[in-house]
Amino acid sequence: MERQDKEIFKSRMYARQQLIEGWDQQTLEKSCVMIVGVGALGCEVAKDFALMGIGKLILVDLDTVEASNLSRQMLFRSLDVGRPKAEVAAERLKEMNPFLKIDAYFKKLQKLPMDVYEEADVIVATLDNFNARLDLNKICIRLKKPLVEAGTVGFEGHVQVIIPKGSGIKYGKKEREIERIVEQKLWALEEQDYPEYFEALREIERLEEQIERIKNEKIEPVIAKIRNEIEKEFDNKYAEEILNQTPCYRCLIPIPPADDKLVAACTLVGVPRNRNHCVIKAEVNFEKKYGNKPDMNNDDDVLKLLALAQEELEKLRERVFEENVPPEKLEQLSDAEIQEWKNNIKQTFGPDFKFEDMENILGNKIAAVQTVSSVIASIQSQEALKLLFRKHGRNIGEPMDPPYVNYNGIYGRFDHLEISKRENCEACGKSQGEETIKIVVPFDADIAYVFKAMEIIGHRLDPSEWMITHPISKELFWNPYVPSMKDLKIKLKALNITNNDILTLTPLGKAKTESEIKKYNLIISYM
Ligand SMILES: [Zn+2]
Repeated sequence: MERQDKEIFKSRMYARQQLIEGWDQQTLEKSCVMIVGVGALGCEVAKDFALMGIGKLILVDLDTVEASNLSRQMLFRSLDVGRPKAEVAAERLKEMNPFLKIDAYFKKLQKLPMDVYEEADVIVATLDNFNARLDLNKICIRLKKPLVEAGTVGFEGHVQVIIPKGSGIKYGKKEREIERIVEQKLWALEEQDYPEYFEALREIERLEEQIERIKNEKIEPVIAKIRNEIEKEFDNKYAEEILNQTPCYRCLIPIPPADDKLVAACTLVGVPRNRNHCVIKAEVNFEKKYGNKPDMNNDDDVLKLLALAQEELEKLRERVFEENVPPEKLEQLSDAEIQEWKNNIKQTFGPDFKFEDMENILGNKIAAVQTVSSVIASIQSQEALKLLFRKHGRNIGEPMDPPYVNYNGIYGRFDHLEISKRENCEACGKSQGEETIKIVVPFDADIAYVFKAMEIIGHRLDPSEWMITHPISKELFWNPYVPSMKDLKIKLKALNITNNDILTLTPLGKAKTESEIKKYNLIISYM
């Protein structure tokens, strides 16, 4: 590959993870991870880093591939049986990522020269025995290398991050450590030195006993009584609504976000107001200039689009500058002040566009990274598996309850969230047959545009069969049967419809019997 093609290919490869705040592909490209043990954990870790675009991997394993490995270690195939694991893994990882450099050692870790360890930024212990772990731990401490150690036993596993003194890696919070030391000191206090402190502790203990007594005497009996009542009427009164169903997807999303197609349509007539609009506008300009939409798989097209988007971004910056610094103000500003304005504006609308921004923005891509993907995908499969067995009358475990889990890779926490069914849910609740939709319209939109916007997002409504009203005041904005209420050209502004106002569309005549939707609630958002 030519150098430029290679860089573009790389930007495509890593475009999604580039969206992660704080991500820098180059840093990853310059880094080296050493994986000691290429078994079940080692294959996973190596695969993750290969996909994410690590610069170099060092693989160490003294074993050869066995048939029993093949049910877990996805880098190996049946024909590899008998070959060194580290070597086979290196071949497969290079297929995954041609830019990856790999050194593979078919050796005991204790026999490796220290130079090999020195090259690694981080060492990952994916070993299967204690002695190897203890030896590696020792080496890492001596070389001041951070070590991430892990292991599994059946259905259990652990991960331990080990940062040796002097590794240069910042870890821990000063405030928390101060708290911890204070806590230790408090435990060690002597009563003779702090008599009042100890008396206060005893007082608190007495009060706590008192609270407990009051609870038992006055609170618990009431709880028991109410619980007893609920138990008696549960089957008749609550069971049907509560058991054997979960909130639906829509329950959690009362107002779905506006469809991007609407923003794009508005951009056709309007001027870009933010970074994303610039790319959308550039796509429109591209079509005008070249006669077709850009092919996002064609590097040339993307580069041309990039240039057009950059032009829009610069115009946007310029426009905002002129709005904030009119000519009369400009005269009074020093060069430094002008530069500061320009820098601020640049910060507000983000840096110059990069290649991968085009597809990320046009495709409305969301930041994603392999590490979290694999955790989440695994949970998803696990739940699907349980449900599948259940459907066939078998049981390999309860579906997770509450039915919603958040994994926070930053804090290393799984949090189950209590969620509830929404009574007025459009999909599973009382408002079935209704739709709440946010629509984006230009500032000078008229009634006709409302119908056009609906059509753009896939709800084609015949204006002669739908009525538009205000849900609370019941004011009529459009009624095809009443000539005075029938003006497609009347502006929403003229009807005093402001941002976030709601319009209700209800079917009349034929539409009343034919439309699946009995009512649309449109939330108006001016662009
Ligand atoms: Zn629902």
